[in-house]
Amino acid sequence: MIENYDIVIGLEIHAELSTKTKIYCGCRNEFGLEVNTVCCPICLGMPGALPSLNKTVVDYAIKMGYALNCSINSVSKQDRKNYYYPDLPKAYQITQDEVPLCYDGYVDISVGGIQKRIGVTRIHIEEDAGKLIHDESFSGTLVDFNRCGVPLIEIVSEPDMRSSKEAKSYLETIKIILSYMGISDCKMQEGSLRCDVNVSVMKKGSTEYGTRCEMKNISTFSGAVKGIEYEARRQVDILESGGTIIQQTRRWDDDKGQNFLLREKKNADDYRYFREPDIGKIVITEKKLLDIKDSIPELPNKKVLRYIKDFKLSEKDATLIVESLDRSFLFESVLNIGDVNPKLISNWILGDILGYLNEKSILLDQTKITPRKLFDLINAIESNIISSSSGKIILIDIFETDKTVDEIILERSLKQNSDIDDLKNVVVNILKVNEKSVIDYNNGKTNALGFVIGQCMKETKGKGNPAVLKELVLKLIKKD
Ligand SMILES: [Zn+2]
Repeated sequence: MIENYDIVIGLEIHAELSTKTKIYCGCRNEFGLEVNTVCCPICLGMPGALPSLNKTVVDYAIKMGYALNCSINSVSKQDRKNYYYPDLPKAYQITQDEVPLCYDGYVDISVGGIQKRIGVTRIHIEEDAGKLIHDESFSGTLVDFNRCGVPLIEIVSEPDMRSSKEAKSYLETIKIILSYMGISDCKMQEGSLRCDVNVSVMKKGSTEYGTRCEMKNISTFSGAVKGIEYEARRQVDILESGGTIIQQTRRWDDDKGQNFLLREKKNADDYRYFREPDIGKIVITEKKLLDIKDSIPELPNKKVLRYIKDFKLSEKDATLIVESLDRSFLFESVLNIGDVNPKLISNWILGDILGYLNEKSILLDQTKITPRKLFDLINAIESNIISSSSGKIILIDIFETDKTVDEIILERSLKQNSDIDDLKNVVVNILKVNEKSVIDYNNGKTNALGFVIGQCMKETKGKGNPAVLKELVLKLIKKD
């Protein structure tokens, strides 16, 4: 039945910004510190404490606004959103209501090679709340206020996505752009990136949106995908059995793979928004806007196109390198050192290097690899100093030690032998003791060649240059 419906999806992404201090006070903005050690009268909302806005938060939000093709409100304000919850000691959150910093943007996503443009309604700044701690080892709930006042941007999309795949691609695209901008660490496991999902369904061909339901605080991409599919099915089942959809806020439970009713919304929740009286207007000068615009680095989608055009990488390889800032930094840094074939760097990064990282479940910056080491490694193979199989051995040492490639080659005696006279002696001897293979080869059994070369490699303890050996064997094996 679900095939007869279109799914309509809008996303609200909350990204914690990686500023040094919180949004309205001087407390450190750092994850994982001992509970309730980075809070002060301001972020706890003590009576009389006055907030002052961290300007970097505004700069970062505008930067993201430009990256998502938004217009910028050079004059905006902040508002109080009033609600009570134990993780919010002030009983209000400072956010932006009617006038966000950024509005009317878009971002292009790609699903199965097909591009689609997703509208970005707005980006605004706000503060995060604390965190409730539930643990089976004690009864009741504890609260950690360290996260109070951590700066957030909320990126609100238009309801332009039509499948969970598009939603996933949108989330991934936003995440990559955030990391390229250097404004959020995007660590989903630490809650730096979370999203609320709005889902409705409508009969195919209809132009009228159905009633939407919202799912709160999804913290993984796979959770978003599963949540959307679950919610769409739930709504279609209701409609198909003659019911109507009631506007609700629901909670996604990733472990159970189901969502549950939190509350029903008659209209919008009444948060009694009003202008934050303790903070002045946010006014951004033309010069400031230009400076921020100038600071935007090359965006991932442009980088992919450049890699395809300038370095002749396939779209798949270019995308895989660009989707990680670490990978593209390594790729470009190796290129900047000297003359080396970009395709070879890409093959190493996406092959053995990525394989090692995945196997160990670590990131590039947790290894000791440097652009210089990778450059030297590729060079050593290309100039026949080592074989490519020795290259794989060296790579492990590169990851795990501070040694240079030259030091590793020396220490492990991996230097390849390309000396023609030396290797000629080896080939002559091997052919002498393998007469049968020589006869076989000359009788048309060409696979005898591989055996002979293999024996030569064995004789040289793997250090003979296979290309030189092959050439010599071909020359000497023929009987007139
Ligand atoms: Zn504070």
